[in-house]
Amino acid sequence: MKTIFEKSNGAEGITLCDRTDNINFIDKNFLRRDMPELPEASELEVLRHYKELSDMNFCIEKGFYPLGSCTMKYNPKVNELLANLEGFANLHPETEDADAQGALELMYKLQEALKKITGMSAITLQPAAGAHGELTGMMIIKKYFETKGENRKKVIIPDSAHGTNPASAHLCGFDIIPVASNQKGQVDIEALKSLLDKDVAAIMMTNPNTLGIFEENVLEISKLMHDNGSLLYYDGANFNAIMGYTNPKLMGFDVVHLNLHKTFATPHGGGGPGAGPVGVTEELKEFLPVPVIDFDGKKYFRNYNLKHSIGQVKGFFGNFGVLIKAYAYISMMGKNLKQASENAVLNANYLKEKLKKAYLLPYDEPCMHEFVLSGDWQKSKGVSTLNIAKSLMDENTHPPTVYFPLIVHEALMIEPTESENKERLDDFVRIMLKIAEEVNTNPEKLTSAPHTTPVKRIDETKAARFPDLRFKAAGKEK
Ligand SMILES: *Cc1c(COP(=O)(O)O)cnc(C)c1O
Repeated sequence: MKTIFEKSNGAEGITLCDRTDNINFIDKNFLRRDMPELPEASELEVLRHYKELSDMNFCIEKGFYPLGSCTMKYNPKVNELLANLEGFANLHPETEDADAQGALELMYKLQEALKKITGMSAITLQPAAGAHGELTGMMIIKKYFETKGENRKKVIIPDSAHGTNPASAHLCGFDIIPVASNQKGQVDIEALKSLLDKDVAAIMMTNPNTLGIFEENVLEISKLMHDNGSLLYYDGANFNAIMGYTNPKLMGFDVVHLNLHKTFATPHGGGGPGAGPVGVTEELKEFLPVPVIDFDGKKYFRNYNLKHSIGQVKGFFGNFGVLIKAYAYISMMGKNLKQASENAVLNANYLKEKLKKAYLLPYDEPCMHEFVLSGDWQKSKGVSTLNIAKSLMDENTHPPTVYFPLIVHEALMIEPTESENKERLDDFVRIMLKIAEEVNTNPEKLTSAPHTTPVKRIDETKAARFPDLRFKAAGKEK
């Protein structure tokens, strides 16, 4: 497909008025000498160009998107409508509290809802993403020990963890101590015990973990950690399995982050805005970033008055637009959040049972909202998980998350979410079984996939090492 620069043909889509008299106040030295080389095309051609570009994208509205750990669920369009209400969208972030009561009320009520959902005592809405929430949470844990005069340096992280966990803890200055998983895909308690000493600040856990398996010994783990004077951090990026059923507080955690742009139906991917609120127990309340949104019985206000606050972690209030969408979703769902979790877990177990004949299921346990297959059987016949992923693209299906978690060879991590109906799940099963069959009958088709996408197989190493992101017009190598 041509770029808009190549399609430019001098047609005038829009005529800008002559602004020369408006820029007289700018020093001549700062004015450009040459006209910018902007593309010119008629309005209709411009519309066609961008429609064609958008059609090249895959999205949840186009087909099944079982990207494990990412919770690509349906994001109700009404959320967008609400986030675009003029009073929200055009509110200046410097507006005085007294003139922004509606926005503050929404944030306060979202905090209250997230308190209920997580069981925590206080929430900050500031962090802009899951990893940012982790960093915020680890900063809180660090400061907590500092104020107690303890210099604990180690953070224990299971070997199945999301890569952001060790990265966030490390960024905070902690040493990362991995703990192995047992053959049930859960934290090995004996291995954990052997790692505990007075230098351990915390454990970062995901539950259900990244294999989609619920950690049965979580209460024993939390007791072990607390007896050791350590804290427990809960990676709640994927809350889809447990909403309304249990929460991190009941499991014994002290700090948790949520990804509103996963569980709480705000669109994500492609680096779009997210929100990673952090919840803490009563004991850690005073360490939250400021301001938190408070209510004195009459007015909502920004509260900067926290004794041990780690400071501010994001400009203004975080990504307010995302907060509106999440609040709309939670308000709309109410008690049905529990039903969403039920359906997400049911859908994942349904797919797992249907697919485990054709693909190796290394941890054959009941799963929660997702499960992890291994492509080892197919790999032994010359078709890797990467090839399976690429082949799915030819079937109007987004590939699952692949090669993660690291403890599963040739991993395929599948998360259907609650949004999909049985027909769609059955169709995915049909496609996966067909691919498994083609491993025997037509492997070349799979190893050379994708065949139908705008961009075919790319050299991923080269793409990462030598990114070429700039368009250069022919003959103009500036
Ligand atoms: C997505 C995810 C994260 C990171 O969230 P971002 O918003 O991408 O920073 C952390 N942990 C788990 C388990 C995740 O799935």
